[in-house]
This record gives sequence, structure tokens and C-alpha cells, in this order.
Amino acid sequence: MARQHARDVARDLLQFIACSPTAAHAVAAAAARLDAAGFRRLDERDAWQLAAGDACYTVRNHHALVAFRVGRGDPAQVGFRLAGAHTDAPGLHLKPNAAYLNQGYLQLGVEVYGGPLLASWVDRDLTLAGKLFVREPKGPPRPVLVHGDRPLCRIPLLAIHFQRDVNEQGLKFDKQKHLPPIVGVGGARDLKFERLLRLLADGAGVDLKRVVACDLEVVDTQPPALGGLDDSLIFAPRIDNLAGSHAALTALIEQRRPGAASSVIALFDSEEVGSQTVAGAGSFLVDGVLERLTALAGGGREAYLRALARSFQVSVDAAHAVHPNHAEFHDANHRVELNRGPVLKINAQQRYATSPETAHWFEHCCQRAKVPVQRYIHRTDLTAGTTIGPISATRLGVPTVDVGSAILSMHSIRETGGAFDQELMIKALGQHLAS
Ligand SMILES: [Zn+2]
Repeated sequence: MARQHARDVARDLLQFIACSPTAAHAVAAAAARLDAAGFRRLDERDAWQLAAGDACYTVRNHHALVAFRVGRGDPAQVGFRLAGAHTDAPGLHLKPNAAYLNQGYLQLGVEVYGGPLLASWVDRDLTLAGKLFVREPKGPPRPVLVHGDRPLCRIPLLAIHFQRDVNEQGLKFDKQKHLPPIVGVGGARDLKFERLLRLLADGAGVDLKRVVACDLEVVDTQPPALGGLDDSLIFAPRIDNLAGSHAALTALIEQRRPGAASSVIALFDSEEVGSQTVAGAGSFLVDGVLERLTALAGGGREAYLRALARSFQVSVDAAHAVHPNHAEFHDANHRVELNRGPVLKINAQQRYATSPETAHWFEHCCQRAKVPVQRYIHRTDLTAGTTIGPISATRLGVPTVDVGSAILSMHSIRETGGAFDQELMIKALGQHLAS
């Protein structure tokens, strides 16, 4: 029974992932869920009116979102309860003048975004997703989300007969030369990028003549799935970090009643490229919302600074599960497993923001939610990845803990997670946001 509910939560995550091939899609999917739950959309350019209990959200640059439930207490006295995650994922982005003919093929020039496991992108049925910018009678072009509904392109591997030692040497890629997908074969008359754009525009009900620009990514076509014995595993793209985004979002929506402190979640863009963008964790996005929440509760700058000093933040991102075929890459005392609950991520070099105090905070939340918790440390002779935690903690001065659910194949086009972990993370975050 309990497992059945956990599987339902996992299926809900898979649905969220399926509609979120890009960061912009993830933000739109999150906004749709917030709308359905009665949250009010606010524009950063407008004057805001807020009262205790109000549930609202705002979107920055189509790729980031901050949502909150206004608390009952004075921010200067009770602070904020923050949870952060990211909407972007590593992958291949189309260049502005992407299309070219080569050896009779139409190909698309791509740039690498973040650090994808490139070998997982080849020999898969790929499509395109992103935004078309549509000219409007007045004002700037309007972005329209598009998502190819069938395989449109592929990066074919070179046959083994040309590289007999590839299984011993490993796949190696010249990023400029070896990654452009093919979208068709034939003559210059048939192979036009415009036809590809028309397909996407038609799918979104947009007149191609009004499209002035596009921002497209190469994405997998295989739908996310539950798998393994007992449906205990998740096979899906972008679990890093749509699982974190979904967990924060669901915990906030399910909170129902406001706590003393305002609950605030931030789904940032650009984590995979260092967070230093207009909608990344290094930007003035969350600060702006928190300062407004303080001001609208009657407090000034000093009250805002006092509120920050009383706040706590949980940064949610994926963690590395022990890999059965490569267990030697994991510290023997800190091997974390799928379906064993949230993982505390700790690093002396501060690649993660966790401190003993913030770890204790999160463990306490897990204890109250009756959720198990694991501890992860990267091997001392390897360099850990990082996340939004240290960047957001530095920017806000708010004590922060880095946590995540364990996954395998992080940054593969298709990652593996535990089907029962999502429910556990949502419960733990729910405790944190309401505390
Ligand atoms: Zn991540």
C-alpha cells in the first residue's frame, strides 16, 4: 500500500519530466501545476500586494521560477524556509545558423551545454525542443514552446569496422566534428532547415512567417518509465534535476496551510554552466522576492537582513548512488543507495554548502517526517561536482544544506533513479518548508 503510493508519486514525477524536455518547458509545467493549485502569478515589473497565507509565483526569463506561501509571522522574527533546485540539464543546443549540407545529408551544428555524457547521445532517436519567438503586433517577440513529437534527428556512431579497438579505447568525440546530428538525406532542394522549423511551428499552431528566431535543443524521444523488478527503478532523462524541482514544487503545493515563516522555492536556470546568469542561482532573483516579502510585511532593509539571518535553505540536486560495476569509485564508508531516502551531500572543499548545523537541521526534518537519510562524500582523490547550494548560500548568507536523491549515470541522456525516493524527498522538504 505504502509502496503503491510511492509509485504513484514516481509516476507523477515521470509525467513532469515528460512535459519538460527543456528548462523553459519545466518552468511552464511547474507554472501550470501552481495555477491548478490556486497560486497567483506575479510579474516582477509590477507592484505586489501580499497577505499572510497568499500563495504566489513569479517567472524570470522563461527558465526560472520562484514560488512561495506567505507565512503568518514577521519575517524579521521567523525568517524564511527556502528550497532550491534547477531546471536545466546538460545537452546539445542548436547553433544560430545550425543547418548545413554535408555529403548529401542535412546536419545541425550544435554546441555542448554543461557536461553531458556524450556517448549516451549517439545512436538514439532524437528530436528538437525549445522556443520559437513569434512576432507580435506590439512589443517584443513572444516565445512559444515547441517539442517535436517524433524522431527528427540522430547522431550515428561510426561502424566498428572503422575503429576495431573502440570497445577497449572508449568512444572519443571531437565536439565540433562528431556531434552534429543528421536530419535527412537527399538534395539541397528537399533538405531545408525551414521544413524542420515548419514541422515544429505547425505542432505549436504557429505561423512560420511570424517566427523571427528560435532557441532549440536536441532531446531524447524515449518516454520516461518505471522499470526493474517491482517497478522499483526510474529510467528517465533529466532526473538531475527535474526530480529536485518536482520535489520542491510538490512539497510547496501540498503544504496547504502557511507556516509561521514564508515557504519559498526557487527553480533556477543555468546550474549546469555555473549559475552566473540572469535566472541562475548567482542572480538577484530570490533576494528580490525575499526583500519584497519583508517589505510587504512592513519591514525595511534592516528587517530583511534580520530575516535572512533567521532563515534556512535546502538545496536539492541529484546524488551519486553506488555503481555496482564501479564500486571502487565510491568512498567505502559513504556508499549511498537507490530507494534508501534523501542523501546529505558533504564536502570539505565546500563544493556542497552543508555544515554540521545544516546537516543536523535536515536530519531533524527527516526524523520528523519518518524518512531515512544517507550521507555522501566524494572520494578524496576525485573532484566532486557542485550545485546551487554554495552559490545561493554565498549570495544570501543563509545557512544551507545540500541534499539529493541518489541516481546512476548522472548527466547521461537517460539516468536511473529509485522509484521510492521521490516520495521520501517530498516528505522531508514538506517538513522543512512548514517548520
Ligand atoms: Zn544537477
